[in-house]
Amino acid sequence: MRVLILRLSSLRDTARSATHRLLADLVRDALPAAIVDMAFLPPRRAPRVTGLLTGCGLAGADLVLVTNAFVREALNLPWMLHANGLAPWAGDRPDSVPPILLGGSNAFAAQCLVQPDGRAVPDALFFGEAEESLPLFLRRWYADAAPAAKRERLLHAADGLDGFWITGALPPAPLRQAAAHALPPPARDLPPLDTEAAGTARLTVALGCAAFCSFCFEGYERKPYREWTATELLTHARALKQACGARTAELDAFNLNHHAQLGELVEGCARLFDRLAFKSQRADGVAACPAVVDLERAAGKSSFTLGIEGISPRQRAFLAKSLTDAEIAAAIQTLLGRRIRELKLFFILTGHETSDDLADFHDFCLRLKGWFNQPAACTRTILSFGRLVRMPNTPLAFDRLFLDEAEWRFAVDGVAAVCRRTQLECRFAFDFPDYLGTQLLAACRHDHAQAVVALACRGLTAHGPWSPAETARLHAAITLGATDTVADAAAFPFVQRAVAPAFLHRRWEEASHALDTGYCLGAACLGCGACRDAAQRDALTGRPRQPAIPAARIAAVVGIEAEKRRLTPVYRYVTLPDEFAGHSPAWSSARLMQLLLAEHPEWTDLLLSAEEALFGWGDNRDRLVIPAGRTVVALRAWEPHRLVRGEVYSGLLCHDDDESVPAPFHPGVFARAELVLHTRLEPREAAHQAGAWLNAQRLPHTLRRLRSPDASPAEPSEGWRLDLAPAALKRRTVFALDVLPGPHGGASLTLCVSPKANLANLADILPPLVTHPHL
Ligand code: SF4
Repeated sequence: MRVLILRLSSLRDTARSATHRLLADLVRDALPAAIVDMAFLPPRRAPRVTGLLTGCGLAGADLVLVTNAFVREALNLPWMLHANGLAPWAGDRPDSVPPILLGGSNAFAAQCLVQPDGRAVPDALFFGEAEESLPLFLRRWYADAAPAAKRERLLHAADGLDGFWITGALPPAPLRQAAAHALPPPARDLPPLDTEAAGTARLTVALGCAAFCSFCFEGYERKPYREWTATELLTHARALKQACGARTAELDAFNLNHHAQLGELVEGCARLFDRLAFKSQRADGVAACPAVVDLERAAGKSSFTLGIEGISPRQRAFLAKSLTDAEIAAAIQTLLGRRIRELKLFFILTGHETSDDLADFHDFCLRLKGWFNQPAACTRTILSFGRLVRMPNTPLAFDRLFLDEAEWRFAVDGVAAVCRRTQLECRFAFDFPDYLGTQLLAACRHDHAQAVVALACRGLTAHGPWSPAETARLHAAITLGATDTVADAAAFPFVQRAVAPAFLHRRWEEASHALDTGYCLGAACLGCGACRDAAQRDALTGRPRQPAIPAARIAAVVGIEAEKRRLTPVYRYVTLPDEFAGHSPAWSSARLMQLLLAEHPEWTDLLLSAEEALFGWGDNRDRLVIPAGRTVVALRAWEPHRLVRGEVYSGLLCHDDDESVPAPFHPGVFARAELVLHTRLEPREAAHQAGAWLNAQRLPHTLRRLRSPDASPAEPSEGWRLDLAPAALKRRTVFALDVLPGPHGGASLTLCVSPKANLANLADILPPLVTHPHL
């Protein structure tokens, strides 16, 4: 069974997302023999959807799992289907086309893909968290060998499972959104993708959001707040480190500073990983527990983001941010006092701002300036503004819409003028066309779907920001005005949400009177209806809102980080498999870690990093590429003597005592090195490309055929040699270059070069092997 996981944004834009990784683990856990591949939004000019691991296309999969992460992205699905020769509507696609399941955090707002009678672009929609329902669905789908029609088979596989709706008709009974209660399965081995995030594992420490901000769907769709213990998470982190080859762990939650055992978790992760990164934290949490900042600073965090949201107390109450002026002052002063490198303050403009709100914001900016002037303040501070998108499943879904740019001018110009006057750095997150497009799609009704999907098939996609003309086309298709509300759209009325509709409306009534009734963690239950029973309610209300972080815990993390800085790398010869050729240093490090930990699981608590130490080191990475073959790696580890040769056998590391790396070894420094690059080009074409590369460096040469001594003159040549002229050899850049048929098809280039050779330019003109794509 081949499962294709499809993202609706590009690989670059989704590099830091953990969703496709989680889906891959769920599939492999449910169906260990399944072949899992991942595809990302292709460019407009080459729209074919292709899996990065196996080259699988849309039609070649047995099942396609689509993640829709944000509103505008939904349009990319019908565009991709149409551009790949498939009908955009599920009912028009034959049974031979694999079923397409769409889930993700925007599933509740994907009504632009669903007509009022239930006909839809995906064959199935999934609402909620997939951890429990999806594996059951997959097992049933796989086990059901009966040659039934696709829709019947889907209905059977999804029968009785929370979260699934098989499109084509409205469901006969309401369905419940799915909620996860258990940790995801242990991470499975999967080659890393060659992105900036290679070597980073996202560790989700909690599910759901404890707060009830009136603008944020996550506080209502992802309820109740659930977290795992530090012990459970550290076990999961070890599996992630092995499976991803992770050097860095990113601790992730909607509000990290709500986790009750954050101190234990950070200390354990600081010892397990070379680096740590931290996702968002609430400003009220920073104010109430400054030790969180000390803990994260000790683990290396230097840039912090605080969501202030409303520009005045009244606006914050409307947004139910549960954040007072005093808490904002305390949080910012805590951060500035700790000399962080960068502070970003996020604000949301609602469209309801008045001159009183702007006056409050002006006062805040003056106070902020005053805090900067405190001795020792050295922090770059940036204020970032966005316009409020009213989303389904939030109290502000009942608010009026602001679809005319002129209505925003007062607030947008007002905050910009205040920042100018107070000389504060500010930026606006999105231009108006993108805002309007997002709001229109979030507010549209099911009866707009046909027109929206037709626009997508004609090329309106979310490949980048929209122009005013593109948004105008969407506005012509989605005929909404200021008196419409998101709640009017009544998207997916048959889905029972985690939070009761009456609670949502009550929160709207409160927000519209600027009444913020807070949130339940460590306080009283507000009656949203998301908890299963009294025990779950009591667990939330009866615990402290902030973690206890003793000074000794922070000192322990400081000590661990100081010890890490004193570690001396161990240099070892290694023979890199062919798949490494042409990859980035980040990917190579992640893959090395992954392979080493697969060979030596007992090194998981020891090994912190594994880096190629010649071609991808320091400045070399700007000119050179990682080759296949022999090179040197730098291993940083606790107790490095446990990695020495002789103790263990390794297939990757060389263990011949005659082959020890000469000391002292200087990483990145070599006079000449032999290396191999592979390409899918035939030898003749590869040789011409190599010649062009030499010419671009002004290295004169002649191209000569290489023949096997046994070959007859009639046989085509087996390879090519680029003989460098004496003048070229004097430049001491490239010493030798042969092109031979590759062991996996295509050609292999064997080079002898100095660090001056710009191999990156050569790699750019040599398309990689299909079997070893540059992932
Ligand atoms: S039911 Fe009560 S305790 Fe549970 S999430 Fe809702 S408000 Fe909080």
